[in-house]
Amino acid sequence: MTLNQYDVAVVGAGPAGLIAGLAMAETGFKTAVLGPPADPRDGRTAALFQGSIELLKKIGAWDAIAPSAEPLDAIRLVDATGALFRAPEVTFHASEIGEPAFGYNVPNAVLTGVLEKRAAPRLTRIVTAAVTGIDIGATHVTLTTEEGATFSAALVAAADGRQSPCRTAAGIIPNRWSYDQAAVVCTFAHTRNHKRISTEFHRRCGPLTVVPAPGGLTSNLVWVDTLNEAERIVALSETDFIRELEGHLGGLLGSVRPLSPRRMFPLSGQTAEPMGKNRVALIGEAGHVIPPIGAQGLNLSFRDAATLADVAASARANGQDTGGADALARYSDARRGDVTSRIWTVDLLNRSLLSSFAPVHMLRGLGLFALSTVPPLRKRIMREGIAPPQSIPSLMHRAG
Ligand SMILES: Cc1cc2nc3c(=O)[nH]c(=O)nc-3n(C[C@H](O)[C@H](O)[C@H](O)COP(=O)(O)OP(=O)(O)OC[C@H]3O[C@@H](n4cnc5c(N)ncnc54)[C@H](O)[C@@H]3O)c2cc1C
Repeated sequence: MTLNQYDVAVVGAGPAGLIAGLAMAETGFKTAVLGPPADPRDGRTAALFQGSIELLKKIGAWDAIAPSAEPLDAIRLVDATGALFRAPEVTFHASEIGEPAFGYNVPNAVLTGVLEKRAAPRLTRIVTAAVTGIDIGATHVTLTTEEGATFSAALVAAADGRQSPCRTAAGIIPNRWSYDQAAVVCTFAHTRNHKRISTEFHRRCGPLTVVPAPGGLTSNLVWVDTLNEAERIVALSETDFIRELEGHLGGLLGSVRPLSPRRMFPLSGQTAEPMGKNRVALIGEAGHVIPPIGAQGLNLSFRDAATLADVAASARANGQDTGGADALARYSDARRGDVTSRIWTVDLLNRSLLSSFAPVHMLRGLGLFALSTVPPLRKRIMREGIAPPQSIPSLMHRAG
């Protein structure tokens, strides 16, 4: 093997690309990750569920992330739709399914910062403005960077985001749609302790979610509203923003004080079928974009990464081509159910809130009523929400 030849080349060094690179390296593949560093000013946080935390532990990243992460002991759903059939408030406690926490709320910038530090010497990290050439051959893919360097690999993990040039080069055409909604995100301080409970207020124009941050008196806001409303909320004076946010929270967290600028993320959805073709496997938002409702996006990406590591390892063990059509078909098959079920569940929940059709609200109310009163259903939904019921990739198995 010459210096620039790899078993796996990951294109894109956002959270999905870095985790994929480290998962492939952990599985024993000679791996390169190519792309610019993630934006350290990314103000978002991600609620990462237990399987994702296990993966971070396996690659040795968790200890450095843990001090900046807050456990999510419970998730509370509040019906704030004002509908005639108002659903009861439901609180799910992780202890009901024998877990200390559903997961942890982790700042994206901390996550990518720690993963970057773990990269060397486990893998080769090529910091480049962009991969501009993607030439798919019979036995390998040749990648050329904007600076003119070339690399080759039998398998490319495309973690190059929702526009994914690698996906285009592989001939995979995504199915895209948009919502007339956007999420307004910021961090804020409050005078009442959040008690490690994440609260979702289900409103007519989208959920408003407050996710606990470390220390008890800080939370992260994900406020989904119509595009016009989101633009208005971002432009509000601090005093008006505080007044409106406190109004929606109804005293839950006491008085609030913003700690970061507000940022807006328009909502959209995207799927790709298949998830792998022509030596390219799609990872993260290159393969699926999902609205920030129910904290699914990055957790799906972690499962992409760990599944690809399993599929490639089994191809290698059987003397097969890790980037060949059989291996990529197995990867695509393994990811389809998990990705599709989560995308459509989030879509359905979102659309049921937006609907002005009373029976839809009645059904949603009845569903939440069942969740608040039927223990086996509660447990099933809790387990399903944090991990797929199908096989769990080996890097996500609980240690010990
Ligand atoms: C408001 C909000 C809240 C969210 N909350 C949660 C949550 O609680 N839990 C959760 O699981 N998920 C959450 N998500 C989803 C999560 O943030 C995304 O899934 C995640 O950030 C996407 O990561 P990615 O690495 O796939 O894509 P990106 O972060 O977009 O990374 C793609 C990378 O590829 C690089 N790139 C692009 N083209 C090239 C090229 N040609 N060559 C090299 N590199 C290239 C880009 O520079 C970029 O660094 C949330 C999303 C939003 C919007």
